[in-house]
Amino acid sequence: MLLADIIMSTATLIEGARPFGIELTEAQATGMLRLLDELDDWNQRMNLTAIRDRPSQLTKHLLDSLSVQPFLQGRRIADIGTGAGFPGLPLAIVNPDREFTLLDSTAKKLKFVDHVAQVLGLSNVTTIHTRAESFRTPWRFDTVTSRAVGALGRFVEWSGHLCVGGGRLLAMKGREPQDELAALPSGWKVAAIHRVTVPGLDEERHIVEICRSHDKVETGSAAPKQRPEQNGTTE
Ligand code: SAM
Repeated sequence: MLLADIIMSTATLIEGARPFGIELTEAQATGMLRLLDELDDWNQRMNLTAIRDRPSQLTKHLLDSLSVQPFLQGRRIADIGTGAGFPGLPLAIVNPDREFTLLDSTAKKLKFVDHVAQVLGLSNVTTIHTRAESFRTPWRFDTVTSRAVGALGRFVEWSGHLCVGGGRLLAMKGREPQDELAALPSGWKVAAIHRVTVPGLDEERHIVEICRSHDKVETGSAAPKQRPEQNGTTE
């Protein structure tokens, strides 16, 4: 990549992360660009992602991943169906004090995630090759994320057991998934639906925050750090 492109991409990331309450360091931005370089390289040998042009990668992979940051709770985070590491890897880069478990049922994608974690020195990333519904751990996670892994009901059925009491399942969606909201398994409820704006992306994005039915939901408990004019949260 040309130096001018690197400078422009770095600025796009630093500016684009701010609405999510993230002051990206240059080192973190450089790490994210390295992640995309590795993705391009591996993509020549295996099909990891269909998003191949750099401007789209910056918005649809990196900034879109960071859009869930304001809603993360606690220290232990799991990303279900992480694929090539989205949103898990960008989140791990900006949250060195949190532990990320990136889980997928496809081993070759996790090989890529392991490679990037090693190249970037991300000691807070662990990968697990399994189907979410068969994953059993002695501990559970404070927040469980997923992007593009199917309907809400299935996400909750597969991953609910991984979430601590009072924790959150965060499903990253395009349009508000009205039909899916009605089909949550019993024992779970929608705590909030956050409409988010991803800088440079002219598409709708929503984050559906799900918790156990008996959990208390405090209005504003997960208040987004987006600027007011970009914050279309409906709670
Ligand atoms: N989250 C990534 C993203 O947004 O770029 C990848 C999305 S990809 C469309 C869906 C991923 O979910 C695939 O990598 C697939 O292997 C994984 N997956 C599907 N069902 C799964 C399950 N039951 N447990 C774990 N991973 C699953």
